[in-house]
Amino acid sequence: MNRILYKSTRGQGEQITASAAILKGIADDGGLFVPTEIPEPGIPLNDLINMDFKNLAYHIIKEYLQDFEEVEIRDCINKAYNEKFDTPSIAPLVKKSGVYFLELFHGPTLAFKDMALSILPYLLKTAAKKQKLNKEIVILTATSGDTGKAALEGFAGVPGTKIIVFFPKSGVSEIQKMQMVTQTGDNTHVIGIEGNFDDAQTGVKNIFSDKELQKDMSALNYVFSSANSINIGRLIPQIVYYYYAYLQLCRMGDIKAGEEINFTVPTGNFGNILAGYYAKKMGLPIKHLICASNENNVLYDFFNTGIYDKKRDFIITMSPSMDILVSSNLERLLYYIHDEDSDMVNELMTQLSLKGAYVINKQAKEKLSDFYGYYASEADTSEAISEMYKSDGYIIDTHTAVALSAYGKHRNQKCDFDTKTVILSTASPYKFAPEVMKSIDPKYSELNSFHLIKKMSRLMKAEIPGGIRDLNNKPVIHNTVCSKDEMKEQVVTILKL
Ligand SMILES: *Cc1c(COP(=O)(O)O)cnc(C)c1O
Repeated sequence: MNRILYKSTRGQGEQITASAAILKGIADDGGLFVPTEIPEPGIPLNDLINMDFKNLAYHIIKEYLQDFEEVEIRDCINKAYNEKFDTPSIAPLVKKSGVYFLELFHGPTLAFKDMALSILPYLLKTAAKKQKLNKEIVILTATSGDTGKAALEGFAGVPGTKIIVFFPKSGVSEIQKMQMVTQTGDNTHVIGIEGNFDDAQTGVKNIFSDKELQKDMSALNYVFSSANSINIGRLIPQIVYYYYAYLQLCRMGDIKAGEEINFTVPTGNFGNILAGYYAKKMGLPIKHLICASNENNVLYDFFNTGIYDKKRDFIITMSPSMDILVSSNLERLLYYIHDEDSDMVNELMTQLSLKGAYVINKQAKEKLSDFYGYYASEADTSEAISEMYKSDGYIIDTHTAVALSAYGKHRNQKCDFDTKTVILSTASPYKFAPEVMKSIDPKYSELNSFHLIKKMSRLMKAEIPGGIRDLNNKPVIHNTVCSKDEMKEQVVTILKL
């Protein structure tokens, strides 16, 4: 018997198994799948302390994927977290200037998206087998830069799948773009859109709920799934590294098991930090989750006022993976702070789509006390990079810098000097070399990305990571661009519907 099933935040439809939820990605009523109950690990914290990443991953993931066999889960984990990562520890915790950084960028595409997207293809294939699905799976994804490449890497060459990625043509870094448009693999498709990430995400959601298209797909034996962070198959693997960070702190002797710590998370679509919220609900001693935004500070306003208002200018910043005004995963948090009341979630989501804004009530706002929200301006972000480099010779990327700056604000405003705090370091600084190097020293402003990568590697006294070493010599394979209204036609063309 599976104790934990999955249901929609919007309340319609049946409760389904984990494998069915992973395959569907999004519920039929447009809601997101949530587990019927949040489990606790079957083993006490003290006994998890010395586990390696893969064993720990098994013990967390198995609680959620209850219709998967042990061998299936272990097999997915082994295929995901191997030599593709440049360190056997997978996600090392480093201490710099009194702050802890959990480096989540040691995977093939140099961003934290690899943590979940290297396992998702295997979870999906296993789920398809369990559900006796004999259709070709079409992964449709909107990306603010990092998901796209990580998903392409994860699904390239996987038999029985095709992947189509839409990215905002002018909203990603040069390196992110090159990583995507040079992707090899016959089953991969990459398209730039004239619009921002929210346009891409809305377009993909519309394609998912296009009933007519679904019929045409079915006739050709295709089925859609999503690699975006709305898929629980992406959310669950992200819970693992919150535990892993905590256990590393215990092993370093910097905390005792049971002591509460904070996490600061550079946030866009609210997927990463939501996994931290699940970890807290599973019993991991987390005091506060500090939600860091860039100048697109919708979430900062939300946590401070209880008002979510997307009606504002979309700002292109140096942390493009966080340039988002509609944070999809927030819907899951709304569900919990309203005591799992789907009618309320439905109502708020309707207001968001009709009016572009909603207000939560007083009781719900009180339940936000697990979180604090801060934001960093572009100047704050540059300053955080330069200070960290000056004080410790440690180079952080622009997204991590937003989090570091937000953490500084939290310390000062709440006088929270004693709680050990882990900053989730979500990308390698190489991915955003121009902005990072410029922040370190304005003399670097003139050089191009690839030149700066070399300079950065000298400053870090380390080799350029394999994922981007020869990027500028790779041939561009994908050069289709379309308007935001033509996304469906692109899909129809690719799939010959
Ligand atoms: C995706 C991403 C984020 C934001 O994570 P969410 O789960 O969307 O909140 C932050 N930093 C980097 C580098 C990313 O790629």
